[in-house]
Amino acid sequence: TACELVDRRCLTLARESQVEYELLIPAETEALLVVEYQGDEAPQVRQWLEMLIDDIAQQRRMAFSARQALDDQQSQLYWALVSRPPSAMYRVRGPSRPVPVLEDVAVEPRILPEFLPRVQNVLKRWQVTASISAHIALGQLRIRPFLDIDGAGQVDQIRRLADELYTEVLDCGGAICGEHACGLSCTPYLRRQVGPLYEVFVAVKRLLDPQNLLNPGKIVGEEFDVPFANLRPALPVRAAPSEAEVADQSDAAASAAADSAAAAAGHGVPPAPQPAQEPGDRPSLLRNLVELQLNWHPERLVEPVADCNRCGECRTQAGPERMCPIFRFAPAEESSPRAKANLVRGLLTGEVPLSLLSSEPFKQVLDLCVHCHSCRLECPARVDIPRLASQCKASYVTVNGLSWGEWVVTRAELLLGLAGVCRPAANWALGNRFVRWLMEKVLGIEHQRKLPRLAATSFIRWAAKRKLTRPTRQTGPKVAYFVDLYANYFDPQLAQAFVAVLEHNGIAVYVPAEQVQSGMAAVAAGDLDYARRIARHNVALLAEAIRSGYQVVATEPAAAVCLTREYPLLLDEEDARLVASGTSEACTFLWRLHNAGQLDLSFRPLRATVGYHTPCHLRALQVGLPGENLLGLIPGLRVRYIEEGCSGMAGAWGLLHRNYRNSLRAGWRLISHIRDAEIQAGTTECSACKLQMEQGTTKPTVHPIKLLALSYGLMPELAGLLASRSKSMDVG
Ligand code: SF4
Ligand code: SF4
Repeated sequence: TACELVDRRCLTLARESQVEYELLIPAETEALLVVEYQGDEAPQVRQWLEMLIDDIAQQRRMAFSARQALDDQQSQLYWALVSRPPSAMYRVRGPSRPVPVLEDVAVEPRILPEFLPRVQNVLKRWQVTASISAHIALGQLRIRPFLDIDGAGQVDQIRRLADELYTEVLDCGGAICGEHACGLSCTPYLRRQVGPLYEVFVAVKRLLDPQNLLNPGKIVGEEFDVPFANLRPALPVRAAPSEAEVADQSDAAASAAADSAAAAAGHGVPPAPQPAQEPGDRPSLLRNLVELQLNWHPERLVEPVADCNRCGECRTQAGPERMCPIFRFAPAEESSPRAKANLVRGLLTGEVPLSLLSSEPFKQVLDLCVHCHSCRLECPARVDIPRLASQCKASYVTVNGLSWGEWVVTRAELLLGLAGVCRPAANWALGNRFVRWLMEKVLGIEHQRKLPRLAATSFIRWAAKRKLTRPTRQTGPKVAYFVDLYANYFDPQLAQAFVAVLEHNGIAVYVPAEQVQSGMAAVAAGDLDYARRIARHNVALLAEAIRSGYQVVATEPAAAVCLTREYPLLLDEEDARLVASGTSEACTFLWRLHNAGQLDLSFRPLRATVGYHTPCHLRALQVGLPGENLLGLIPGLRVRYIEEGCSGMAGAWGLLHRNYRNSLRAGWRLISHIRDAEIQAGTTECSACKLQMEQGTTKPTVHPIKLLALSYGLMPELAGLLASRSKSMDVG
């Protein structure tokens, strides 16, 4: 039912981009032929496959290796490789990228041995490499030359190359649109393919669309410039700054940081809004607003923008994918990841005025990215949209400062420290309807959102009493625990459970007392100066711990993403990379321990059914489902895996009044599962997802680590958790 050919270049890209292909395809493979059989009986299909392998590999010796894919998972792997176009194509980095110039040509299969060398000769003449894949049984080919369409004079080269290649197709009696419709790039050659029939096309078009309103330039239209007029403007290519320039920028950035710190320290409020700068000298404005503020080289802005090929995959609403939660709530183009790349492309090419960088409309589009990282994982080209968005938000923040709500969220640790002093009053206020109404009006925090209450003692204070804040003298495996805000101030029981589980497994625990919040909220809000200061502080502590033999572990997935991914972007220094490579998420750490045969498996049965939700930030770590796997080790515990996409909280996004309804709408299917009578509690690693899972239900959501501690018999008081019920579905 199918016969597909994939060339060496496609295979190399696939091997480089996915470890499964590296294992599947030998490095010396020149081409891959995928043949699919369909039949009613499995033995019959197997027999056909064996006959084919015998013929090609044994008798004719045309292949040095042959594999059979007999289940869905294996065959999906091959189909992903031959699909159109294979996603590995999108991930090519550097100026030359595959350009779909001859995406859809066809020649008679018997002509292929003559046609392919002719194509290769054209490519050689132009000194261009290309990838070729084909529905070989039908003679349909996809030829993608690797070209730098942003380079000087490249458009002219593409035009002449396309001209020569289409000429070869037509000279071989082939078709320039073999499978799909005739678009802008093929139209100028259509007359040569269909001959006198072309005049009939023109007459029909004139009759039905006399004003040429419908798909102008397609099928009828012989202007060779039209396809190229639609190419995007080239991105500016900029040289990396000299060391002196970098040093100048660092000094200026440091003094800007000091100014903003002084403003915040002096008044205890966000810096006052400043008037937006007028667009003056374009390069210097860009430099002031962007480069100065951020720790990047100019070409790093160009690269992620150039990576986006506008394929629109990030507008998907399809089931198992997570991309993009915000686009799903509000499916307008500006909500899509692609819109952020297009916006920045516009700024770089001059299509969009630079004054927009500090404007409200610009901020509104960027605020539609909540830094969940889903698109970075699922975009075929792996475009780093969250990085692009936070760096652009930083330009806005440099000029306008943060809103009150953002300031509170990013500086939550300062406020929680103060609130801890008068905890009863703070907790009363969090449950008081008038105070919540006031918080909504002033800070924008939705009054109906259930908020956690401050714990009597912070975890770090508890750890200090247990002398865990001193480095251990114990030899053997040891963990430096990065607690982050939620476990420290609201759920120290989780942190205590983690310590208990580690100690139960013979692992020494050290809790650096001076650690501060991870800074993920500041990164997401674009306050990169503040995030960088936090990162510098934590990196100094944690790098020292790693050098002393500790593995850094975080119970909050967002904190783990921040330490492993954001810190090296914020601080271009060896210690930040050391912290990134030496940090794991808690369940991931324990699951690896289990895989190494070092996790104690003396779990006691738990008779309960829990609904497990995977947080987006855990997916961003690309570690699989360690929490769910660990829960599977507990006898008697039934774990229902709930895959309903993002919980809808998206960090602090769902806390805000303006997003509350959309947030609930997005998370409602997940919440409905938790409300199912069969499920006693929800379980997830992320504190923000936990808030959402507890909204609209009276059931608790617990961290998998707590269930492990309970099952080990380490914290019997946790037993009440599974049966506990909150008083109401809404805030009290
Ligand atoms: S960001 Fe969107 S449009 Fe751009 S390459 Fe990725 S999926 Fe395609
Ligand atoms: S990081 Fe998340 S919210 Fe931002 S654009 Fe990507 S998918 Fe959307």
